[in-house]
Amino acid sequence: ELAYYAGEFRDINEAVIPIDERGHQFGDGVYEFIRVYKGVPFSIERHLDRLERSAKAIFIELPVSRQELKDIIHQAMEKSTLKDADIYIQVTRGIAPRNHLFPDVPAQLALTIRHPRQTPEEAYEKGIFTLLLEDERWANCYIKSLNLLPNLLAKQAAASKGCKEAILVKDGYITEGSSSNVFAIKDNVLFTTPATRKILSGITRANVLECAQEQAIQIREQNMTPSFLKDADEVFITSTSVGLLPVSKIDEVELPTFRPVTVALKHAYSLRTAGTKAYQ
Ligand code: PLP
Repeated sequence: ELAYYAGEFRDINEAVIPIDERGHQFGDGVYEFIRVYKGVPFSIERHLDRLERSAKAIFIELPVSRQELKDIIHQAMEKSTLKDADIYIQVTRGIAPRNHLFPDVPAQLALTIRHPRQTPEEAYEKGIFTLLLEDERWANCYIKSLNLLPNLLAKQAAASKGCKEAILVKDGYITEGSSSNVFAIKDNVLFTTPATRKILSGITRANVLECAQEQAIQIREQNMTPSFLKDADEVFITSTSVGLLPVSKIDEVELPTFRPVTVALKHAYSLRTAGTKAYQ
């Protein structure tokens, strides 16, 4: 496991962030989270596209070119010798005495590479419990911003009730999970929240939608109410970290345990991550 900061690779536990780093003072930055499968950073182009979009949306100029960032990622993989890994990339507005106004300093890139966080096989078989909670976040959730406090509070509130994920509801409709996107299947049609400013446009979401297209599954990117979700035939969440993870319970409502569409999509997704076919 390794870290990269201020242009150098370092021990993961080395203290490197100066007191005036805007990332920790303001959460003034954006991030990405990429999974490496068998030596290949999965969907790297999509992740780097989203990093560029997020940075642009908050007027941060990336301190390295796309090719330089790819080189750093590959060096991290080589130096760590990890074949399967989690890569966290963070870009902040830089280091300057604390002031709300943007300083005229270069942005700072931080990166870590670690062993992948594994989800227990049992969770994939049985599905997870989830809790519906009010979405208390801001209006620009399409930006992968460092400001995750509402997400943390929601996940923690769910955990305190024995649930693995909080599913967020805004103005009467499901937005997404605290760290995932939400899908439902009803009468063999796949539903998911449209990728507006209200949700993070998940890379796993995009890959799963393409898997569904390849299998000629009907797709509706459409807002879902809590009662629609509770009445669905199958519900699953997606993220880079968990892939596709079935939901077995929403609040007090148990969902059916027969999940043919989820199983088919999970299989198709695992072929993608295994690199059986080349994908962006
Ligand atoms: N939505 C939120 C709020 C997230 O934090 C995440 C991932 O961490 C996702 C969705 C899933 O995105 P991805 O599939 O790109 O990991």
